[in-house]
Amino acid sequence: MTSQVPVLHKEKILDFKNALDIVKSEYSERDGIDVQTLLDSKNNGGLTYNDFLVLPGYIGFSANEVTLDSPVTKRISLKTPLLSSPMDTVTEHNMAIHMALLGGLGVIHHNCSADEQAEMVRKVKRYENGFILDPVVISPQTTVGEAIALKEKLGFGGFPVTESGKLRSKLLGIITPRDIQFHDNLNDTVDKVMSTELVTAKSGIELTEANAILQKSKKGKLPIVDDNGNLISLVSRSDLMKNLNYPLASKLSESKQLIAAAAIGTRPDDKARLQKLVDAGLDVVILDSSQGNSMYQIEMIKYIKQTHPALDVIGGNVVTREQAAGLIAAGVDGLRIGMGSGSACITQEVMAVGRPQAASVHSVTSFAARFGVPCIADGGIQNVGHIVKGLALGASTVMMGGLLAGTTESPGESYVSREGQLVKAYRGMGSIDAMEDKKAGVGSANPNDPKASNAGTARYFSEGDRLLVAQGVSGSVLDRGSVTKFVPYLISGVQHSLQDIGVKSLTALRQGVIDGEVRFELRTVSAQAEGNVHGLHSFDKKLYA
Ligand code: GDP
Ligand code: GDP
Ligand code: 5GP
Repeated sequence: MTSQVPVLHKEKILDFKNALDIVKSEYSERDGIDVQTLLDSKNNGGLTYNDFLVLPGYIGFSANEVTLDSPVTKRISLKTPLLSSPMDTVTEHNMAIHMALLGGLGVIHHNCSADEQAEMVRKVKRYENGFILDPVVISPQTTVGEAIALKEKLGFGGFPVTESGKLRSKLLGIITPRDIQFHDNLNDTVDKVMSTELVTAKSGIELTEANAILQKSKKGKLPIVDDNGNLISLVSRSDLMKNLNYPLASKLSESKQLIAAAAIGTRPDDKARLQKLVDAGLDVVILDSSQGNSMYQIEMIKYIKQTHPALDVIGGNVVTREQAAGLIAAGVDGLRIGMGSGSACITQEVMAVGRPQAASVHSVTSFAARFGVPCIADGGIQNVGHIVKGLALGASTVMMGGLLAGTTESPGESYVSREGQLVKAYRGMGSIDAMEDKKAGVGSANPNDPKASNAGTARYFSEGDRLLVAQGVSGSVLDRGSVTKFVPYLISGVQHSLQDIGVKSLTALRQGVIDGEVRFELRTVSAQAEGNVHGLHSFDKKLYA
């Protein structure tokens, strides 16, 4: 029995084979809206990430083919467009090392002394190397006890021994942790225990060749010497493994060292701090201010561009084109966007100043792009979808605080909350807690103490003020395990999302948005409710396995 087909359309039914041609040619307006219409603040108000969705496109490739390379400054590109925030509950050296290994970047906070911060930068730069150009070298008279102490301080224990105890002096042997591990007499000198039968290579050798010798020799280190047998540099076997295990790592092509980024303020004594960071090998500096469009920051950008031309400077934070323009004109290599959208932040409530993050990102990135300045969407990232939306609105990278604060690599330990959940501390840098915290004598709760200037207070506090006005809160976030699992989950999530949108790279996403090919849809409040889990009695939200 055949049933009567209901009338679907008032005109004649078309040949199905022509559907694709018709959708392209006949619809003068494509489905959904383009980015300008979406972010039109006169009609739609200031939107944020939850207020819209990206419409799906055509999937013509697999998700793992999607590449996420994107610039973080005018000169430096990353393979993973993810940054960890310069906050004292998020990024110290351990987070910075792991973010860089995974292809992103961790920005080391400055709520500590300049020396402590420089030491963290040094740890990032020392972590992985091609040729180690300044290896720690000891002399034959160094005692076993001293070598053990050095190992404990530095974290590595393979020390070449040279006549003078310095680089460019005759290589006599090498001490490795195994040579001294069970040596009882700590007062013995290392020349009694060092290995003297060494496999070495001549300076001038290519890294690939040096690696091949290292692999064949089965040794842990390959000292590089000149024609007279003087030590010039060192290659370490463990770096080969690091390179294999972390193919996305953010490294400089010459040194193979991880890229190091750190934040500073814009006070006069931040210039001395910066010098220490640069001496430690800093590559990127972020000027950390909640309202970046200031005479202090513009002066600082010009100063850095003049005194440290090799250093990349990221300015901010900004949320308007007008704010961005001043910093772009001063010469910034990147911008950081966001004011009051951070998860631990109360700026918008207290100051009545700020902007919803999607509006900020689109407004600033579309302007900065004209000057070739990459932008970071900073704050308010709660999930993979938010990352993609920030990138779709023109950000080159996104920065996260709260999302990464619960990982093993953030400072501090997890603890069990009153509700019985495993959590880690997370606080806004403008919280009273952070502002009052004085580490190693730099921060100070006393507003009249001149030493207060380099602490977290500098970002949210003016010298003359007698009262601390909080712009952030102090709390905790759920424990998330290691970033070595969590960041790959974020990367994979972004790849799948771009596949759904139908673009194979972030460049294609950006181009598609500019051309109006990638389409958007506004989301009503009920659409947002529909897009979240609803109607279940209970559920377990496990994000990845
Ligand atoms: P990639 O490092 O594999 O992305 O490619 P490159 O062309 O930069 O690497 C050139 C050579 O240097 C290859 O033999 C790499 O295995 C090696 N290499 C890369 N990173 C490191 C490192 O951190 N240490 C050492 N010793 N070798 C490295
Ligand atoms: P070791 O055998 O105890 O020296 O340690 P590993 O070989 O496991 O690792 C040494 C790591 O520290 C490598 O990634 C090196 O690139 C890095 N490193 C940085 N600076 C130095 C240095 O001056 N000497 C040594 N031995 N390693 C260094
Ligand atoms: P999240 O990823 O947690 O949403 O936001 C992190 C961002 O919040 C940081 O990168 C920084 O820009 C901002 N932030 C950190 N602490 C504070 C604070 O105390 N007040 C304000 N207004 N913003 C903060």
